[in-house]
Amino acid sequence: MAAGETNPPAPVLVAARDVHKAYGDHEVLKGIDVDVRVGETVVILGPSGSGKSTFLRCINHLEAMQKGSITVGDEQVGYVTRNGTLYHASPAQLARQRRGIGMVFQQFNLYPHMTVMQNIIEAPVGVYGEKRGEAEAYARTLLKRVGLSEKANAYPRQLSGGQQQRVAIARALAIRPRLILFDEPTSALDPELVGEVLETMRDLARSGLTMIVVTHEISFAREAADRVIFMDGGHIVEEGPPDQVLVAPSHPRTRAFLNRVI
Ligand code: ADP
Ligand code: MG
Repeated sequence: MAAGETNPPAPVLVAARDVHKAYGDHEVLKGIDVDVRVGETVVILGPSGSGKSTFLRCINHLEAMQKGSITVGDEQVGYVTRNGTLYHASPAQLARQRRGIGMVFQQFNLYPHMTVMQNIIEAPVGVYGEKRGEAEAYARTLLKRVGLSEKANAYPRQLSGGQQQRVAIARALAIRPRLILFDEPTSALDPELVGEVLETMRDLARSGLTMIVVTHEISFAREAADRVIFMDGGHIVEEGPPDQVLVAPSHPRTRAFLNRVI
C-alpha cells in the first residue's frame, strides 16, 4: 500500500501551491501544486527543460519563486513569519530549514580532496556543529547502509561512479533529513552502474524516507514510487499511481513521452 493510502493518511510534509518561477521573461514553472506525504516516494518524469530541476531547487530555496508557496513541515523554506508578515530568512535560519532537506545531484559533487568519511561528516560537523566522533559513528552506519563500509578512507577518484553516487547519498543522509530530493541521480552513470544506485534508493524508499525523485528510470518509478508526476512545459500534466500514469496514461503528452523513453 502506498504511504499516502494508510488510514489515517500520513501528514503532508511538502505542500507546493501555485508555484511560479521565471528567469527574466522565460516562464519555467507555471503554477505547480504538489502535496507529498510523510514516507511517500514521488517520482517526477518529464522531458528536458520542463522545469523539474527548477522545481526541486525551489523546494530547498536554491531558487526563489515569484509567486506561490512551498512549505516543508510547517515552514516556508527561505522565509520566516513574524506577526503574520513574511520575511526573508537569515542565513542561519535558512541553514536550519535546509537541514531537514537532503539533495542528491546528477554530478555527485563530492569534494575530491576529501576522503569518503570526510565528505560525509563535512556538513554535520562543519555546518551543524555535531561532535566529530558521533558524526563518524553515524557515517559508518550510513556507509554500511549504502554497501560501502570498506571505503571510508578512499578518495572519490578511487571509486566508480556508482560508488561515488552512493557516497553522495550517504552524505545527504548524514544531516538526518526528513526529505531527500534526487535530481537525475543515475543520468551521469555508465549503464552497468545504474542498478546499484537504484537498489540503494529502493532500500531508502522502503525504509520510509520521504523522497522526491526526478529520473528517467521508468523501472524505478514502477517499483518504488507511490505516485508519479508527469511535468511538461512548466505544468503538471498528470499524476497518479505508477500503474495508472506509466501503464495507462490519460494525457497524450504523457503517452508520447513514455513511448520515447521506454
Ligand atoms: P529540467 O530539469 O526539466 O530539464 P530545468 O528546470 O533545468 O528543466 O529548466 C527549465 C527551463 O529553465 C529550461 O528552459 C532552462 O533552460 C531554464 N533555466 C534553468 N535554469 C536557468 C537559469 N539559471 N537561468 C536561466 N534559465 C534557466
Ligand atoms: Mg533537470
